[in-house]
Amino acid sequence: MSNIPELFGSLVFNDTVQQKRLPHDTYRRLRQIVASGEPLTPDVADVIANVMKAWALDHGVTHFTHWFQPMTGITAEKHDSFLTPAGDGVIMEFSGRELIKGEPDASSFPSGGLRATFEARGYTAWDPTSPAFIKDDCLYIPTAFCSYTGEALDKKTPLLRSMHALNREAVRFLRAMGWADVTAVTPTVGAEQEYFLIPKELYEQRRDLRYTGRTLFGAMAPKGQELDDHYFGTIKPRVMAYMKELDEELWRRGVMAKTEHNEVAPAQHELAPFFTTTNIAADGNQLTMELMQRLAQKHGMVCLLAEKPFAGVNGSGKHNNWSLVTDTGRNLLDGGSDPANNLTYLLMLAAVMTAVDEYQALLRITVATAGNDHRLGASEAPPAILSIFLGEALQNTLMQAACGEGSTAAARRELEMRVPVMPHLRQDDSDRNRTSPFAFTGNKFEFRMLGSSQSISDPNTVLNTAVAEVLGRFADRLEQSGDRDAEARSLLQETLEQHGRILFNGDGYSEEWQREAERRGLLNLRTAPEAFAHLTEEKNVALFAKHGIFTAAELESRQEIHYETYAKCIRIEAATMAEMVRRQILPAGQAALRELGQTSRAKQEISPLLSCKAEELLGTQVANYNDMLLAGCTVLENLLRDFPSGTEEQKALYARDRLLPAMNELRQAADALEQMCPAHLWPMPTYGELLYGV
Ligand code: ADP
Ligand code: MG
Repeated sequence: MSNIPELFGSLVFNDTVQQKRLPHDTYRRLRQIVASGEPLTPDVADVIANVMKAWALDHGVTHFTHWFQPMTGITAEKHDSFLTPAGDGVIMEFSGRELIKGEPDASSFPSGGLRATFEARGYTAWDPTSPAFIKDDCLYIPTAFCSYTGEALDKKTPLLRSMHALNREAVRFLRAMGWADVTAVTPTVGAEQEYFLIPKELYEQRRDLRYTGRTLFGAMAPKGQELDDHYFGTIKPRVMAYMKELDEELWRRGVMAKTEHNEVAPAQHELAPFFTTTNIAADGNQLTMELMQRLAQKHGMVCLLAEKPFAGVNGSGKHNNWSLVTDTGRNLLDGGSDPANNLTYLLMLAAVMTAVDEYQALLRITVATAGNDHRLGASEAPPAILSIFLGEALQNTLMQAACGEGSTAAARRELEMRVPVMPHLRQDDSDRNRTSPFAFTGNKFEFRMLGSSQSISDPNTVLNTAVAEVLGRFADRLEQSGDRDAEARSLLQETLEQHGRILFNGDGYSEEWQREAERRGLLNLRTAPEAFAHLTEEKNVALFAKHGIFTAAELESRQEIHYETYAKCIRIEAATMAEMVRRQILPAGQAALRELGQTSRAKQEISPLLSCKAEELLGTQVANYNDMLLAGCTVLENLLRDFPSGTEEQKALYARDRLLPAMNELRQAADALEQMCPAHLWPMPTYGELLYGV
């Protein structure tokens, strides 16, 4: 490996390259634009495009692409070459116009009815805050994607809008708290990514994995994760080689992959990057997921990003570590040396508490997918209920501050005596509550409900917007008050009174918590469609409209897309199951019966006195499962045939209430048959082979 500092970012048009290559004036202009969010003028764009092209050509690049993140949750790109005819030959050209604006023919991306197909014009606009990079001899330009009339058609536009709103309100709040020197606040994110690696040749033999990314059948292997021997275990050489190459490819493109380790389930792993500005982290996570999948192939493996690729062992999630940093370099969720008297910090915690409590449904929606429904609440991931873990010590600090303790000399002495609690507090914090969906971890919050395959843009959009809203309210109050500290304490007090119910330090996986949460009036949106219904509630429409994130029309379109994607995903799974049963599993069951028949006939040939009891018994069981399979498959096929043609919501509910139960039933019969079918007749790799094959 070459020198890592040299390798890092070597394929990124980053600040260093910009500073070195751009004319000084242009560089300054670009920095200004990035800082202020003003639009780029055509002359500046032309200069930047030219320099970018020259830099790309130096790296052997021939094409460029506007890289964007449509509502599919994955990225999209269309490569254009720099080639332009000149005389009898060509020259390599790239204009400012091509840099800042693209017009992909985007009629086939989900738009939830926003963009009628007859005016299938989508525009991509350069996001100069996320640096361009090189991959596959192509210059990747991060862009946002919107319709002819300016409605967001992607996941990045709202994310950028939310960062803008948060910046505005957080700066107001800080000013009101007397932080005169802060002019910008940025949300930072580090997204830990879980994934599975399985052998490629086995993957290819499973139609369910190929069509849906997860297994739809499969009896549990004799050994799962019960010994906890995979978690943080020694990494196998093939996986090690893969991780090493993945790290290097990510580093080249400026993604600071930092930690790699084995996860709980066999064949499960995790990658954690160093945190960065949210939109860059979102781009980085998309790139990470793509490279993970691509490089796995190169190493003879397949990377599964599905939330629940295997029943019976842990699924994969993504942990969204989130904080706020000022342009003066302060982490607003870091309490410093005297957190008990750091009112700004305590109010920040209060703001997040309020935001999470008031907008529980929105946060839940951002992690609601057909895939994640198999994971949330399955005792391996947080339940479908939002709550916040602060830890008891910090919760006490918050309460004391709210009561005004620490403001009088006597109380201060008492608090000073409690300050030694702080080392204790740190201990608490690092001894994480792993069952909490939204945990404070010392200097950041960790939102743990995200599914492994999803974009981190939606959760961060909601988090930023909700916190912006609350900080705005705090700012209003503080600005109007004569006594800042007293007002801050009242805000803390009100927050604890009104939103204290969101705090929960106990076991989030337990049954009691479900009941307790209900008593507290917290939402428990068990399935994705239940959650989607809340998206267009008045309160949510008002929040997004107020901060310029989504119009009501944009929200409705997103709701449509949510329902539609959910229904389609389950429909594909159901159709895959029916195909596998008809063409692979039932034939295997019948072959097993034939073998048993042959065995009993052979016995009779040897001696009519030999008992055929075993064959009879086994044959009866196999035949029963075959009957159940055919019956179950027919039910599923009929349900698929009768799939409703109503609204997207109706389709989603039908998929959830009719298809999923039938799929579960069918699976049970197939998994039971698998356990009695001779290994050589079973038509696909088993869980044991998939999970222990690498
Ligand atoms: P763990 O003990 O869970 O590994 P770490 O402190 O190493 O916790 O961080 C986990 C993730 O949180 C990493 O991706 C890290 O970059 C990220 N992180 C750390 N500090 C911040 C912050 N201030 N803002 C956002 N993410 C952060
Ligand atoms: Mg974590």
